[in-house]
Amino acid sequence: MSECKICNAETKLIMSFGKMPIANGFISNVTDDEFFYDLAVYFCPSCFMVQLDKTVEPEIMFNKNYHFISSTSNAMANTLKKLPKRLWKLLHLKNHLLL
Ligand SMILES: [Zn+2]
Repeated sequence: MSECKICNAETKLIMSFGKMPIANGFISNVTDDEFFYDLAVYFCPSCFMVQLDKTVEPEIMFNKNYHFISSTSNAMANTLKKLPKRLWKLLHLKNHLLL
């Protein structure tokens, strides 16, 4: 059970992925300790927000081995440029469906 990060309502578990390592958390030796956290996705029936219940501390997530910088990805930049138009279309369709 988890509490919504937006409206504090009780959320419902959608899916649990169990213990997961952080992204790009490559270890040098198999004997090194690796950080794991419980990755679970929850849904809020009050505000419809889908969210993770746990947030990994930025110091752990974006450590010295974290090399992904989103602004250097042309594919991501192009996708994000198109996102507002796609969302507007999606929300527009939903409004028609609700009427
Ligand atoms: Zn909520």
